[in-house]
Amino acid sequence: MHKSFGDNEILKGIDLRVSQGEVVCLLGPSGSGKSTLLRCINGLVMPDKGHVSVGGTLIGRKVQNGKLHDLSGREAAVQRERIGMVFQQFNLFPHLDVRENLMLGPRAHRLGGRNELEEKARHLLAKVGLASRVNAYPSQLSGGQQQRVAIARALMMAPDLMLFDEPTSALDPELVGEVLDTMRSLAQDGMTMIVVTHEMAFARQVADRVVFMADGHIVEDAAPAQFFDSPATERARAFLRLA
Ligand code: ADP
Ligand code: MG
Repeated sequence: MHKSFGDNEILKGIDLRVSQGEVVCLLGPSGSGKSTLLRCINGLVMPDKGHVSVGGTLIGRKVQNGKLHDLSGREAAVQRERIGMVFQQFNLFPHLDVRENLMLGPRAHRLGGRNELEEKARHLLAKVGLASRVNAYPSQLSGGQQQRVAIARALMMAPDLMLFDEPTSALDPELVGEVLDTMRSLAQDGMTMIVVTHEMAFARQVADRVVFMADGHIVEDAAPAQFFDSPATERARAFLRLA
């Protein structure tokens, strides 16, 4: 994939394949294009060249009469719901309680009846350790709890893939661990995950692969032990010295 903003080429030929159930940690210096890559993967941004497919489904485009067409805004939004995305900022709806935050997306897409979805919400909240906070408002929760709600909310849509963009970067240090634990348990359940993070210990322990980006290119793609213990490039060595 290639992607430019104006004259600025941000993704300079990205070729990445992630298998079902794989956990990929995407590392790289600020400005290297990590967020742009995630946004291309879930169709928030369309690449100029190349394409993304998830489970064999083309993202953001469809074939009609033998030709490729962009999806309508609505079609693209429906497709995006199957790809969970968790951001640095938790983006919960402040005027809705936890249960309503979880129910909103699936209700809008008619993914089930109310009872069924409430049961699912309860199950997922228990999974992220927040069963008792189902009626709390976001402002009543710590940042770590809000981020765990955001993860549960994404899981309500039964995503094929979860994308995380620096999910712990906005958290006070003492709250980082609980969110990483939630992500670790999701990985153990077999969720396919692409995680942009600066948490090197997490990447080393949880990732199946580390993909290191710099300046719009994938510079290294390796098993964590190999990447951290013997990075192949000077760029990765410099990055790891600063991390
Ligand atoms: P990273 O997440 O690795 O820090 P980003 O993908 O956010 O990198 O950004 C890479 C570069 O792309 C940055 O220089 C940023 O300013 C630029 N960029 C990202 N999104 C846009 C946009 N919508 N319009 C213009 N420039 C953008
Ligand atoms: Mg970013």
